Amino acid sequence: MLPVILLYIVVFVYGITIGSFLNVLIYRIPKKENIAIVRSHCMKCGYQLKWYDLVPLFSWLTLGGRCRKCKEKISVQYPLIEALNGVLYMIVFYYYGLSIDSLLYCLLFSALLALSVALCKGPVLRLHYSPALNRSRDVAGCHNVTSSS
Ligand SMILES: [Zn+2]
Repeated sequence: MLPVILLYIVVFVYGITIGSFLNVLIYRIPKKENIAIVRSHCMKCGYQLKWYDLVPLFSWLTLGGRCRKCKEKISVQYPLIEALNGVLYMIVFYYYGLSIDSLLYCLLFSALLALSVALCKGPVLRLHYSPALNRSRDVAGCHNVTSSS
């Protein structure tokens, strides 16, 4: 049987790996970019990241938070999301152990984390015009909500 600390390390590594994928979702979905086929790249110079540039947390730390090629700063959001997701998974594991409940809570927390960050970065959902929605906005006093018609 594995020592408990080793299980926590495995859960954390799993969490930061999923957290790395959450960063892909957070960045690409609002821009309607492909999340599966397009390789990760630098936003400034287009440098396609190698496998060793994609190791969650460690790549950002070893590169000093900068692109390997052009030295453009890479947002601290990336390692923070990865680390936070890893910690959330360890907390879930602490309370529920290896169980289906853990799996479901991890999925739920990851979805909430990705959605929260995406919402903080800007509008994710485009509201379509509807008279009923407009009336509810008037009642709520929301006149500056982004909408498309
Ligand atoms: Zn670059």
